[in-house]
Amino acid sequence: MFQFTQEEKENIQKTEGTYSSRGIWDTLAGIETIFGKEKRKEVEEAMGEAGYNLSKMGKGATIPVNYFTALLIIQKKVLNLDDEGVRRVGKESAKLSFLLKFASRFLVSLEVLVDNANNAWRKYYNHGELEVVEFNKEQKRAIAEVKDFWGHPAHCRYLEGYFEKIVFFVLGRKVKCREVECPFEGGKVHKFLITWE
Ligand SMILES: [Zn+2]
Repeated sequence: MFQFTQEEKENIQKTEGTYSSRGIWDTLAGIETIFGKEKRKEVEEAMGEAGYNLSKMGKGATIPVNYFTALLIIQKKVLNLDDEGVRRVGKESAKLSFLLKFASRFLVSLEVLVDNANNAWRKYYNHGELEVVEFNKEQKRAIAEVKDFWGHPAHCRYLEGYFEKIVFFVLGRKVKCREVECPFEGGKVHKFLITWE
């Protein structure tokens, strides 16, 4: 029987807003691609045990965002993932994202991506803001901030992988994304440094 720790429960409760259930299905599909069908089933069963019934959830439904927080905590524990493992799931899920479909359709530049970051965030989240606060093409670096959003450290690792994949897709170069400030580490916002070759 899957159980959250007290701390995990508190983080789930503190994460406000709604989310497009599509992100849940993309993440589960990512898990299946990396770890196989059986592991996906284990994650779905643990979600059920924790009180999140996925079978009743439509593909385009609007759900509380903390369902997603719960999924990220559950997959980390059930699949025994380290930070890199969670990033990998983020990357795999990003391949299926709205944003990547948009990017591939319009062959966007990094500038367009930067300008549309928050619109892309809004496709999934109705709460929080995603803003690119620094973008330096010469130095090959950008800083993105997620404000007004709680989550869980597993969500931060997931976003690192997710952002890495999206920027990689647009640039076609090796990308690294690491969080440099985080509310879980005493910071004000989730701040991500993205660098590329
Ligand atoms: Zn964070």
